Amino acid sequence: MLSFIKEALTIGEGATGLLTGSTSAIKGVMDLVRKPNPDLSEIKALAAEAIDKLLEAKTAQMAMQDALLKLQDEQKKRDRFQAEAQRYVLTKTDMGGFVYALRPDQARGEQEHYLCTSCFEAEVKSMLQPVNFNTLGCTRCGEKVFKSDGRDNGARVARRGLSTRYDILNPYGDDD
Ligand SMILES: [Zn+2]
Repeated sequence: MLSFIKEALTIGEGATGLLTGSTSAIKGVMDLVRKPNPDLSEIKALAAEAIDKLLEAKTAQMAMQDALLKLQDEQKKRDRFQAEAQRYVLTKTDMGGFVYALRPDQARGEQEHYLCTSCFEAEVKSMLQPVNFNTLGCTRCGEKVFKSDGRDNGARVARRGLSTRYDILNPYGDDD
């Protein structure tokens, strides 16, 4: 983020310097033209210099615009992530692994799911998927987290005749 700002500022300074240079070159041309007997070759040389400087300033200005757009994109991405991040809470799984779990009051109709903590720190939302028995994995960074997937519990619950597997699969409980 800081490097983006520095880049934009450096380019901005360059563009300002180039504009100042071309402005004084143009002023020089005007002064020559207003003379009683203007020297055409002198005017031509100075005009060419002014045009060169203007073109350079234009290029620098375009580079500055690019840098600012990049900066804006970066900021938008961060804002978007920050807004999303509010919906999750760092949670320890039943098997001691850490995940960012969707807050039940922030579900907005989404299924319960978990995000990778390593990717979360890098401000990337990466959903964990079951990759093995009692194991969730991050497809982005390859991190693995242990979390019981309920298959084992389900069998035991059924044998013990408890209400449903759902109670164990859904530790937050559901209002409806
Ligand atoms: Zn990850």
